[in-house]
Amino acid sequence: MSIDFDAVIIGAGFGGMYMLHRLRQKGFTARVFEAGKGVGGTWYWNRYPGARCDVESVQYSYQFSPELEQEWEWSERYATQPELLRYANHVADRYDLRRDMRFETRVTKATFDETANLWRVETGQAGASGSAEKVTARFVITAMGCLSSPNTPKIPGLEDFKGPTYHTGNWPHEGVDFTGKTVGVIGTGSSAIQSIPVMAEQAKHLTVFQRTANYTVPAHNRPLDPDYVRQVKASYPEMRKRAKTKPAGIDFTINPASAVETSEEERNRQFQERWDYGGLGFMASFSDLLLNDDSNKHAADFVRAKIREVVKDPETAAALVPKNIIGCKRLCVDTGYWATFNRPNVTLVDISDEPIERITANGLRAKGRDYTFDCLVLATGFDAMTGALLKVDFRGRGGVSLKERWNEGPKTYLGLTVVDFPNLFMITGPGSPSVLTNMLPSIEQHVDFIADCLDALRAKGKTVIEAEPEAQEAWVGHVGDVSNITLRSTCSSWYVGANIPGKPRVFMPYIGGLPAYIQACEKVVANGYEGFALA
Ligand SMILES: Cc1cc2nc3c(=O)[nH]c(=O)nc-3n(C[C@H](O)[C@H](O)[C@H](O)COP(=O)(O)OP(=O)(O)OC[C@H]3O[C@@H](n4cnc5c(N)ncnc54)[C@H](O)[C@@H]3O)c2cc1C
Repeated sequence: MSIDFDAVIIGAGFGGMYMLHRLRQKGFTARVFEAGKGVGGTWYWNRYPGARCDVESVQYSYQFSPELEQEWEWSERYATQPELLRYANHVADRYDLRRDMRFETRVTKATFDETANLWRVETGQAGASGSAEKVTARFVITAMGCLSSPNTPKIPGLEDFKGPTYHTGNWPHEGVDFTGKTVGVIGTGSSAIQSIPVMAEQAKHLTVFQRTANYTVPAHNRPLDPDYVRQVKASYPEMRKRAKTKPAGIDFTINPASAVETSEEERNRQFQERWDYGGLGFMASFSDLLLNDDSNKHAADFVRAKIREVVKDPETAAALVPKNIIGCKRLCVDTGYWATFNRPNVTLVDISDEPIERITANGLRAKGRDYTFDCLVLATGFDAMTGALLKVDFRGRGGVSLKERWNEGPKTYLGLTVVDFPNLFMITGPGSPSVLTNMLPSIEQHVDFIADCLDALRAKGKTVIEAEPEAQEAWVGHVGDVSNITLRSTCSSWYVGANIPGKPRVFMPYIGGLPAYIQACEKVVANGYEGFALA
């Protein structure tokens, strides 16, 4: 029986783009299906004001091609969404990727045919006028993103609002002009923290509804000095190598000392130094911030004091001070977030003790009071890690559905494969380091693993690879065990699915760190794809 493609790749973000390139290099045929009209994934959809990466651009970039590294010029320490999207398009042009991509085409169903050992993939209608497609492929590789399924909370009356409603994760491509408008923002996570200062500069009035106060550290973003860029370009391989020895896959120095075993003066000096430098490296001020409650409290108190220093109104400051563990939820990186609450046109409404009652025609009702605004912004994040995967009806052996299999939370072998779903690979799936790391190196590591695996199967004359139940069970156990060691699994965050009502509470990413994860994958390969059955 003839097969249409060696592989179908779902998604054309950084993961799907590089996967296509690697498969082509190895002489495999592939088709990419992408729901959006272009490449870029996260950077195609998240066009809200202030959107930018929070891992420094020179590190948040592909490393598979020295030529690409050398020719691309990052202009800012943290690139904006338009620059990141230009980068994605540059990569698509450079490697002529679009000819094997179908845009505006959402994969809806994929069924494993056990007789022919192939996947039958079905799509919805392509664009407004295209037709649905059915194709076959030996392998399906999901590159659907960990943060690509926007979460719209089920607040009563949402459909009653008369003005426009925007979700940060699906922002209008033509942009939004808030000049002279009153705006209500629901949410204070990473996207809100990036967009609120920018929207506040434009809007007549901004009312921010906050359920959970979040920690953020200053970005100290700036245009990149050409000398610095030259220096980075001259030493990219060393920097990338160092980064791969760090748990988060980011090249910053981790202070090996313990915060509790350090004098108060020295501790505050360390925190201040990291604060002044800016960015996620703040959490590397000491090695035990996510392991020891008291150490964590020192870091949290340092940030809390900063908030009280910046925010002039004591009541607003008190509401903005986070109560939980720092770093438990994803740490945010901002430009002028706290100071924005000193503006006369910004109001904070603390809804931590009482949820919003309902959205009304002209605003919303919370804590017995009506708030009115012209536009509503939902900065309410994503159904993370499993959201996009479970929107596709994946059917494995015996017609078993992935949704049913993951009823009690996702279970994978290495975050890459699932028992009874042969020849299905996931890029940055649950159970892999993914969102706890700089995702570009994590994506590249997965893509290389998958491409090499397909190559090895071809060399061995095999057509089926499948995770073994014992191997999956052991990996799931290991992912759970390491998550229990850190404070990160202790709070209600999207890492544990807490932002989605009814979602099983499981710490989804692998927190053992990128180096340990790479080692585990290398061991599996060295032992002839240990834990997998090949046929
Ligand atoms: C606002 C924001 C900022 C971020 N900043 C950083 C950062 O600084 N550093 C970092 O490491 N990570 C960051 N991330 C995480 C980011 O998602 C990854 O870094 C990376 O872009 C993921 O690439 P991807 O290809 O795996 O997934 P995505 O970029 O999410 O792409 C997935 C693609 O799959 C498509 N898709 C999904 N389902 C289907 C389907 N059924 N059919 C067809 N197509 C489908 C989607 O349309 C999407 O285009 C950020 C995420 C967000 C949302």
